[in-house]
Amino acid sequence: MQLKVVKFGGSSLSDTEHFKRVASIIKEDPARRYVVASAPGKRTDTDEKVTDMLYTCYNMIRSREDITDYYQKIVDRYTDIICGLGLDFDIMGELEYIKNAMMARSGRDFAASRGEYLNSLILAKYLGFDFIDAENVIFFKDNGEFDEEKTNEAMKNELKYHERAVIPGFYGSMPNGTIKTFTRGGSDITGSIVARAACADLYENWTDVSGFLMADPRIVDSPLPISTVTYRELRELSYMGAGVLHEDSIFPVQKEGIAINIRNTNHPEDAGTLIVPNSHTHESKQVITGVAGKKGFSVINIEKNRMGAEFGFAARVFRCLDSYAIHTEHLASGIDTMSHIVSTSELNNKLDDLIPELHRVTDADNITIDTGLALIAVVGRGMRESKGTAARIFSAISGAGVNVRMIDQGSSELCIVIAVYESDYERAVKAIYNEFVNG
Ligand code: ASP
Repeated sequence: MQLKVVKFGGSSLSDTEHFKRVASIIKEDPARRYVVASAPGKRTDTDEKVTDMLYTCYNMIRSREDITDYYQKIVDRYTDIICGLGLDFDIMGELEYIKNAMMARSGRDFAASRGEYLNSLILAKYLGFDFIDAENVIFFKDNGEFDEEKTNEAMKNELKYHERAVIPGFYGSMPNGTIKTFTRGGSDITGSIVARAACADLYENWTDVSGFLMADPRIVDSPLPISTVTYRELRELSYMGAGVLHEDSIFPVQKEGIAINIRNTNHPEDAGTLIVPNSHTHESKQVITGVAGKKGFSVINIEKNRMGAEFGFAARVFRCLDSYAIHTEHLASGIDTMSHIVSTSELNNKLDDLIPELHRVTDADNITIDTGLALIAVVGRGMRESKGTAARIFSAISGAGVNVRMIDQGSSELCIVIAVYESDYERAVKAIYNEFVNG
């Protein structure tokens, strides 16, 4: 029999109605055996996520404020769900224990993690599934890094004892037993960890959208959905700001070659987006899979005659940038020029020292900084097979009256990155999308 790991995000578990919807999705397919749950998300635009409320409690305790009234709102969220489901489940003892533990300073991550813990207890009870506490199967190292292999072994062992189970997302434990969370949205990573350990046939990630769109809907009107995307394409798109899935959640399933299916809890009839290991199994019908981008970049241009003939030139530049904690996001080079694209926020207040230091280590003829840039990534595994893609992209951009500041195409031919001025960003994205979708 097939085995699926299903993860439900906070918006899918925000209230009684959503719990019922989730339960019917799970019960509809017996392969959905392991469930990862987030904390209750927002019920309306103005509502608060339980995780945010728990962080607020933690901050209030630190500043010695009384949390009684505020904590009651969290208690109400859970008791409303339990009553609405008609469950015979007394959660008051747990809620009291958590409040006391927070007051006894059990840590910020402990506080934040309780949203997932409580929601998973309720969901397990409602489904009649076992409950596996993530603190016993997900581990971090002393330096705070996720301990992949120890986790995989422990998770594998534990799953053997459970035919069906609910596991809270977002957290695990440190070697000293204290609770540690992943970064925000980390339940996606937990789902991927469970899918790897269970050797699942599929990891379904249920959220409130029907997968990825080919472009940002705030820029392009009703962009087409992406039906299939490879892990590598997704890495490029999410680095450039295409949200929906935590970017680290690819890694555990990648080890086992398990596909991820993004699905919509409110529209279970939609197929969503399938994220697959490689393109061999899923040929792309479209030349480009998606267009994504971000503003807030600058370029450091370094010019020096015959720089290419100097051993260690690039290494000196990188070492200097490292010492100022500046990452090179993209690099373009000519015979006598080198352009480092960096995030403008990393340059803040450093330029007065950085430029003289770069001059000192490189003896460059000229160093200039250009700010106010946006990067656009045109991503598509179909680009390799089709001639003239770059020509189409650039004629679309120039047709829209946009000046290209820099181009970077990796040798994998999976992604072309284009730098434009921020004021041209939206126009360029629209032009590229229209060229490939409506052209
Ligand atoms: N509840 C956590 C957050 O709001 C983790 C998650 O939902 O994935 O970030």
